[in-house]
Formats: sequence, structure tokens, C-alpha cells
Amino acid sequence: SIRKIYMITPTKTRAEQIADLTRLAQTLYLIPNLFWIIVEDESQRTGRLHRLLQSFNLPFIHLNIATPDYLKPTKNQSTWRRPRGMHQKNIALQWVRENTSTNEDALVYFADDDNTYHWKLFQEIRKIQLVGVWPVGLVGELLYERPICLNGKVYSWFHYIYRKRKFPTDMAGFAIHLGLVHKHSNYLFNVSANSVGEQESNILGTMTSMNQLECLANNASKIYVWHTKTQSMFLTTTEKLRNAGMKYDL
Ligand code: UDP
Ligand code: MN
Repeated sequence: SIRKIYMITPTKTRAEQIADLTRLAQTLYLIPNLFWIIVEDESQRTGRLHRLLQSFNLPFIHLNIATPDYLKPTKNQSTWRRPRGMHQKNIALQWVRENTSTNEDALVYFADDDNTYHWKLFQEIRKIQLVGVWPVGLVGELLYERPICLNGKVYSWFHYIYRKRKFPTDMAGFAIHLGLVHKHSNYLFNVSANSVGEQESNILGTMTSMNQLECLANNASKIYVWHTKTQSMFLTTTEKLRNAGMKYDL
């Protein structure tokens, strides 16, 4: 039988959220045996998001935790100075540990709500024994970042920004076996502001090593995921839209 993928998606409240999640959900219709763990960045789960998630008829769990205000990206500050979706990923890791068995043969993938995923990515994820890596498009100020591979092994990386990263890949560029989440039962992402850019290296450095990495996507010659970003729209005021009956709701 086909191995389960636990896909962890943090999601921030914003005007484009419902549109982004709708697009992502409809990608997931192409993927069998995937369990979607959605962690809303709110102190309470909203009915608005819950009803949207129910409307998809996908297997999911809706969790929540609010990023503390002092760590939230502010309007006039470049977002890369703040960790994004890290509290949410940590809650999801805890949920996975408490709700799956330690010997289940399944995979864990961190999938932001605004990226673009080809269905073939999930086929690649199911080839993983421990940790798999692959290229990510439109990231790191490049058309793509990627591992440089030979015979399925990684021996270098093509990257540009943050050159001192030990594993210079994006969150979208790797997945891990569920067993590693259980094995490293205390591992959580560092949520502090100075950990930006180091999160991927930190989890990979803890759970694996360069020579263990499995290079996927045809020796990293294919791009199956893109770090796309939805432009935030100029809205005249959300209050006016609400009055016009344009709630972000189903
Ligand atoms: N996110 C979140 N809370 C935040 C900022 C981001 O939950 O305060 C989520 C967001 O919805 C996305 C992920 O974390 O799923 C990464 O954020 P974003 O896409 O803004 O980051 P970038 O694309 O700039 O790396
Ligand atoms: Mn993003």
C-alpha cells in the first residue's frame, strides 16, 4: 500500500489566505493518502477557516497557535527578519508525535500555504527512506536552489544567499521519515528572530547528515515545487468590504 504523507501547513490570516488555501487544497485532490495538518496562526481556530477546510473533503486536522506579537512580521519591516510559521510547525510536530505510532512507515513534509506543488513531488516524497532533498524553484534570489548530486547522493549545493548555511535549502526542499520525528522526540524549531534562514539547516543537521541525504527528482534535475508568493492586494479598507457583504467566508 501507498505510504502516508503528513503534510504540515502553517497559515497566516490575510486577505489572500482563502484563495491560497483553495489553490493548495485543489492540488491535494491529486494526491492519495495524504493527511493535511493545518495550523492556523490565531489564538482561536476560526469558523471561517474551519468551514473552508471542511468544504474540501480532504483528510485534515485544524490546529492553531498564535505567533506572539513581538515575533510577527510588521508592515514596514522585511519579512525575512522574522521567523514565519515556526510556532505553528512546532505544534504540528507535537501533534504528529502524539497521534501517530512510532513505527508507522510514513513521511512528513512542511508545505507553506502559498507555494506551488507539482503532483509528482509527492511521488518523490514516497521514495524517501530517511531524508530526501530536491530543487526548489524561485527561491534564494535564484531561479532555483538545488542540491548537486551524483548517483542519488548530495555532494554540493547550488545557492546564493546566506552562504554559510550548512544545508542551503528551503523548507519546501526536503521531507523526512516520520520515524525521525519520533526519534528526535524533543526537537522543535527555534522560534527566535535570529534563527531566520537557519531553520532548514538546524532540523537537517539534527536529524541527518549530508552523506545520508537521498537526492530525488532525477538527481535534482527537475523542479517540482516553487517558492511562489501571493502579492498582498491593496484593499481600500477591510471594514468597507465587510459592510458590502464581502466577508472572506463561504
Ligand atoms: N505564516 C504564519 N504566521 C506568520 C507568517 C507566516 O503562520 O506570522 C505562515 C504562512 O501562511 C506560510 C508560512 O508560514 O504558510 C511561511 O510564511 P510566508 O509564506 O509568509 O513566508 P515566505 O514565503 O516569505 O518564506
Ligand atoms: Mn511563502
